[in-house]
Amino acid sequence: MDKLIKKIEQLKSEREAVILAHNYEPPEIQDIADIVGDSLGLSIDAAKLDNPVIVFCGVSFMAESAAILAPGKKVILPRLNCGCGLADMAEANAVRKMRAQHPGAAVVTYVNSSAAVKAESDICCTSGNAVNVVRSIPREQEIIFVPDRNLGAYVEQQTGRKMILWDGACPVHDAIRAQEVLAAQQKYPDIPVIVHPECRPEVVALADAVRSTGGMFDFVADSKSKEFIIVTEEGMLYPLSKAHPDRIFHPVKPDGMICPDMKMISLNDVCTSLEKMEHIVTVAQSCAEKARLALERMLAVPRH
Ligand code: SF4
Repeated sequence: MDKLIKKIEQLKSEREAVILAHNYEPPEIQDIADIVGDSLGLSIDAAKLDNPVIVFCGVSFMAESAAILAPGKKVILPRLNCGCGLADMAEANAVRKMRAQHPGAAVVTYVNSSAAVKAESDICCTSGNAVNVVRSIPREQEIIFVPDRNLGAYVEQQTGRKMILWDGACPVHDAIRAQEVLAAQQKYPDIPVIVHPECRPEVVALADAVRSTGGMFDFVADSKSKEFIIVTEEGMLYPLSKAHPDRIFHPVKPDGMICPDMKMISLNDVCTSLEKMEHIVTVAQSCAEKARLALERMLAVPRH
């Protein structure tokens, strides 16, 4: 293991590469990464860094976003088949058709979507800024929210705006049931439950705090509680414990919530990707330009 990590370090320096890892990646991948974070934060970092090579340890839509926001850099995904069950639920042609059925509607697309779907959108959003993005759209304008119906329902509840919700959901977050949260609350009484807004409305209703992965760090930092029940992909427990070693984080269920795509990349894959400079993620220029516009419009929305 040490030998492998040394080799990765050496190749990284030869290639002037930077390794980015999502919060849901396995601990050993997070440990070799230069930056660990959420999907959009990592892509924004990718654009700011001087390194010509970015090894993106996450799933394909994240690497696409990095390639869109950091044109001219080589973005490498160590495993080509790391997909996202949620992103796969929306396809560009279908979004175009829905827009044609609702002329004048604004298409708001969660960043967990393909570049082609982002290119069909007016503006993107993250789970952290979706409420503000929707508030930035004139009240009288109809909104089509793609592709996560659970995040969409949460935004509807927060903004009081009815939207046309795409019928998609993250298979990992959508699988969690209210009964499982209630069981965790019984096991660990009187501690805050932090829920990701990709969960079902009845699960969100049980939360003390509804937060994106980035928002979970802030909530814990501001809380006086020593323990928390975390309702999101189990990889998140690792960076939370690293950032707050004095706190205890309980997964909502003992066998965890696991996204198989987020567990695919191994240290060997990272090493091979740097050695062979594969797999380079590219997005066709016309698609990238339109998708970038949707992302940039989102970045221009005030945070508060
Ligand atoms: S946890 Fe859900 S949204 Fe995130 S990558 Fe996995 S399937 Fe996609």
